[in-house]
Amino acid sequence: MTNHRIALIPGDGIGPEVLPAARRVLDRLGPRHGFSLSYTSYDDWSCERHLREGAMMPADGLDQLRDKDAILLGAVGHPGVPDHVSLWGLLIPIRRGFRQYVNLRPIRVFDGVESPVRGARPGEVDLVVVRENVEGEYSQSGGRLHSGSPEEMAVQEAVFTRTGVTRVLDYAFRLAARRGGRLTSATKSNGIVHTMPFWDELVAARAARFPGVDWDQEHIDALAAKFVLDPAGFDVVVASNLFGDILSDLAAAVAGSIGIAPAANLNPEREFPSMFEPVHGSAPDIAGQGVANPIGAIWSAALMLDHLGHPAAAKDVTDAIATVLAKTDVRTRDLGGTATTADFTETLLGLL
Ligand code: ATP
Ligand code: MG
Repeated sequence: MTNHRIALIPGDGIGPEVLPAARRVLDRLGPRHGFSLSYTSYDDWSCERHLREGAMMPADGLDQLRDKDAILLGAVGHPGVPDHVSLWGLLIPIRRGFRQYVNLRPIRVFDGVESPVRGARPGEVDLVVVRENVEGEYSQSGGRLHSGSPEEMAVQEAVFTRTGVTRVLDYAFRLAARRGGRLTSATKSNGIVHTMPFWDELVAARAARFPGVDWDQEHIDALAAKFVLDPAGFDVVVASNLFGDILSDLAAAVAGSIGIAPAANLNPEREFPSMFEPVHGSAPDIAGQGVANPIGAIWSAALMLDHLGHPAAAKDVTDAIATVLAKTDVRTRDLGGTATTADFTETLLGLL
């Protein structure tokens, strides 16, 4: 039986509430699908730790994770710690240090969930946003000039490399070829005149190698509008770091709640562990009440199983999520129900 070594980072707020739910689901599936999981939990890697010790994780944090097969993360964030500290103190070093250049965010409108968008009929919306995860607009390059004077300015440079763009496009086209055979590229080459035309050229070059994939490109402003007006019209959407960040949060809202949305930070070459985390943050407004929606964390665990070579187990999880939502009224508060995190998890386990 294959054993996978999993690093658990519960983090802050609702992270430590939703991660145990994901773990219970994983432990249920192992025996049936012929794998086992051993866990190492990094309970204090969090904003709380940052407040106490000035760092989210130890200096040798990445080395502690390096020999694991995957990382499952709850959430990091704290009202007393600025977002950029929690991002740059943990998430971004892991994403970049382990070359997790694909951020995969599947979106589905499940039967039984009410989308705020009228056109998003349950069962019809099933798309994946592939976001470039390590370069692009979120660079540290740039600076401030003429501080305090009327001429003061801030310059932020976006860095797009041929290697960095090509590898994420390659992943997205392969995924599109395996799924519905359709791909949309997010661009803005009418306004961003250096990086985005480069992105578009590389998309066209990659597309030539995937004749079976029907592709197009849309400017990000029009694309955002279409995500709301006709989300069922998309299959695989590939986007730069910033555009993908915005589109995937938008799509998660279309799906009915940010509490549902999962994410995978993938190192497709498997040189390093990949990291799986719900899209939502620490949700300090509901933390400690046991009412967080665990679907995002549980679905993220399913993405992890898929990555570890257990697609049938992953499908069991998403099927069970779909069944609870379609066939029962057990749902957490964000989806209009009264179930607790534990109630929902029990109901789901009952179907596995
Ligand atoms: P952070 O700073 O960690 O990103 P945040 O408050 O900015 O936290 P989220 O944690 O994503 O962002 O929360 C946004 C809103 O969505 C909050 O009102 C929160 O309660 C709600 N929310 C997020 N995740 C869940 C969940 N799993 N279940 C229920 N509600 C959620
Ligand atoms: Mg946030």
